[in-house]
Amino acid sequence: MQPISTHLLVIGGGPGGYVAAIRAGQLGIKTIVVEAAQLGGTCLNIGCIPSKALIHAAEEFDKAQHYASGSAIGISASAPSIDLNRTVAWKDGIVKRLTGGVGALLKKNDVQVINGFARILDGKTVEVKQADGELVRIRCEHLLLAAGSEAVELPFMPYGGMVVSSTEALSPETIPQQLVVVGAGYIGLELGTAYRKLGAEVTVVEAADRLLPAYDAELTKPVGAAIKRLGIDLRLGTSVLGLNAGGDGVRVREANGEETLLSCDRVLVAVGRRPRTGGWGLESLQLDMNGRAVKIDDQCRTSMRNVWAIGDLAGEPMLAHRAMAQGEMVADIISGKRRHFMPNAMPAVCFTDPEVVVVGMSPDEADKAGLDVISANFPFAANGRAMTIESTDGFVRVVARRDNHLILGWQAVGRGVSELSAAFGQSIELGATLEDVAGTIHAHPTLGEAVQEAALRALGHALHI
Ligand code: FAD
Ligand code: NAD
Repeated sequence: MQPISTHLLVIGGGPGGYVAAIRAGQLGIKTIVVEAAQLGGTCLNIGCIPSKALIHAAEEFDKAQHYASGSAIGISASAPSIDLNRTVAWKDGIVKRLTGGVGALLKKNDVQVINGFARILDGKTVEVKQADGELVRIRCEHLLLAAGSEAVELPFMPYGGMVVSSTEALSPETIPQQLVVVGAGYIGLELGTAYRKLGAEVTVVEAADRLLPAYDAELTKPVGAAIKRLGIDLRLGTSVLGLNAGGDGVRVREANGEETLLSCDRVLVAVGRRPRTGGWGLESLQLDMNGRAVKIDDQCRTSMRNVWAIGDLAGEPMLAHRAMAQGEMVADIISGKRRHFMPNAMPAVCFTDPEVVVVGMSPDEADKAGLDVISANFPFAANGRAMTIESTDGFVRVVARRDNHLILGWQAVGRGVSELSAAFGQSIELGATLEDVAGTIHAHPTLGEAVQEAALRALGHALHI
């Protein structure tokens, strides 16, 4: 077998890998990407994009149903229905457009894509089994590992039959009558809410004593209230024991120690994801690990020279925008630029209804870091735009240093607040102070005015509260 030679070989064509390859191509670096499934990885095919498409469809259907029972704004509708096959086909169409776009961008930038499964032979050699079974060997100067992550399975309730992961949940043939969701994290709450809006009875079982335990309690309170209003049954402090013998329910141990049966015809297990480290020869490199993730430094270098790792494979936070930013940086470094991955602001958004955004430090995190901070909230109940879109739940919160008013963090919960993450991130990365944001004219009427008002309030002179 005659090996192919390249300067950069990327394993994995997800957001980390494909962005690294596009940037490398732009910089004139000879690059090959090996992808075993579809370009775009988890994010475009079975993650961010399809989940947001399904969430949108569920929201629209829920709105139509809301109008069918009359509404304060005078719209009425009769007996809305949803054709799930068309919904899934519409979602698949978006995925296809985006993954096709990634292929076109790679081609435009002279990146060679090899469809096949990569197995590492050593730090400079990879063997790829292509779809037709043919093997190809690739030699490289730099090896970038971007193999992503996979859903964690509960050993006593493996995937299969009525037990599904987010992947199957994103392409449903039917909506279950009774859905049990295990895990009240990102996936459990985003998809649990969507399924409820699509008509399923939903019970969410969470081992911790509150939902979205990664976020602070004040921030997730409006989410908890909203899912209750929607009719989702949330069981906190509850552990799953397994399917019942009849296969039509899940046995759980409730917070009070009692064992109960939750009847259901589908179970979505969403208890986290773990780096995909097994089955492709990674262990042969004997890299230093950080728990289950590949250990990297602030340039995404692994413990082996010229072997790099990015994205979910390199651990938390497992977010697409982090993977992309790391990928772009690694390509820059390989081209000779001096870069380090030290973001001040790494936004995280949970696309529940209402949405939750965090960027930078929360008041608790600032306290723990020994910083003396001021923080202030501005509620959407006092924002005109929020009233006009019938969504006054939630607030924007700012955290800033007391001494010089440098902004350290933003948090928000409310409908549509994901779009505020850009302003939040920019203000932190640009080193804005409370005065900078308070003194910026914000368009009226917008949800963004709550950002300015939060800064004004932290300075002691909010105008509209
Ligand atoms: P991946 O996207 O997992 O890509 C890795 C690629 O490598 C895959 O295509 C895989 O086929 C390929 N691969 C693996 N091993 C090999 C091999 N040996 N040979 C060849 N190819 C290989 N993040 C957000 O920021 N926002 C969201 O809204 C969001 N929503 C999500 C919703 C869901 C349901 C899920 C599951 C995830 C979501 N995420 C979200 C997380 C996001 O998808 C990941 O953080 C992101 O995809 C990680 O990118 P990556 O490039 O590291 O890996
Ligand atoms: P997660 O870590 O967000 O939530 C998992 C939840 O399951 C936690 O609340 C945990 O306490 C709970 N849990 C764990 N074991 C349990 C058990 N045995 N019984 C009951 N509850 C249990 O994980 P996820 O929702 O599976 O999502 C995986 C990852 O995908 C996320 O961490 C995130 O990185 C990424 N993601 C991001 C987004 C987004 O950015 N909007 C959306 C979806 C997924």
